[in-house]
Amino acid sequence: MSAVLIDGKAIAAQIRSDLAKQVREIKAGGLVPGLAVVMVGDDPASSVYVNMKKRVCEELGIYSEQHLLPASTTQDELLGLVRQLNSDPSIHGILVQLPLPGHIDEQAVIAEISPRKDVDGFHAVSLGSLVAGQPGFVPCTPAGVMRLIKSTGVEVQGKECVVVGRSIIVGKPTALLLLQESGTVTVCHSKTVDLAAKCRQADILVVAVGRPGLIKGDMIKPGAVVIDVGINRVEGRLVGDVEFETAREVAGYITPVPGGVGPMTIAMLMHNTVQAALMQRQD
Ligand code: NDP
Repeated sequence: MSAVLIDGKAIAAQIRSDLAKQVREIKAGGLVPGLAVVMVGDDPASSVYVNMKKRVCEELGIYSEQHLLPASTTQDELLGLVRQLNSDPSIHGILVQLPLPGHIDEQAVIAEISPRKDVDGFHAVSLGSLVAGQPGFVPCTPAGVMRLIKSTGVEVQGKECVVVGRSIIVGKPTALLLLQESGTVTVCHSKTVDLAAKCRQADILVVAVGRPGLIKGDMIKPGAVVIDVGINRVEGRLVGDVEFETAREVAGYITPVPGGVGPMTIAMLMHNTVQAALMQRQD
């Protein structure tokens, strides 16, 4: 048996095309959604992401600004820029590309972003809304993971869901979203004892660790939905946290890397930006 591939690239393309249509309608009503992306320093991976975001904004008709600041930027200067963007009516979403250089306190910068413009969903207000089950911006990668699970037609309700990884960016919000859908959720991390046994119980397995091939086929329940968030560069190639070749023989559905979760993250960022514009129009 070989698992059904979850085609994140195609699903993300459909979301972008729906959003482009929505943006055209919003613009016809006189509102242009705007996203500001702020990057400090010249980390090559961050530059790739910032350029991708710019390109997708152009594709969708979203106005975008890139603020590329030198690595020597002080925390006060960065906070000043965030405050300026907070009060700029042409900007509905603000994204500060992480990681920031070591001399800048990331949490202080995220806290400065207006929760109304927090399209990354990392502000304590957004995360608090997620915990409380209230409407708010959902972090983009976890939101993308949920869309991919939905695309399989497998119901989350009542399923054993295992999330490997407990970062604030991926693991924790994903666990909360699965819980919101009434899954029975286990969160594993580096101190988990017998990870294999935990994973083998999962009807839905989401892996966000950053260790190439950590999850092998014999750690997967036959027929499970496997979502591989990991992005690892190995010998010039991108691979996930799941050993794809052995896992696909056991799983029911599986995401490839690349072409699985990756494209969904940007699509969900655009979704959040459009939502932010619509919300701010009502204010
Ligand atoms: P973090 O490094 O912040 O978190 C990794 C998590 O994995 C931690 O909770 C850690 O546990 C856990 N972990 C580490 N080793 C093990 C192990 N041997 N067994 C079980 N758990 C372990 O990473 P992120 O959440 O930011 O990212 C995870 C991966 O997802 C990375 O490959 C990243 O590149 C990718 N990613 C992909 C995105 C996309 O768009 N596709 C977006 C964001 C991330 P502990 O807490 O105990 O340290």
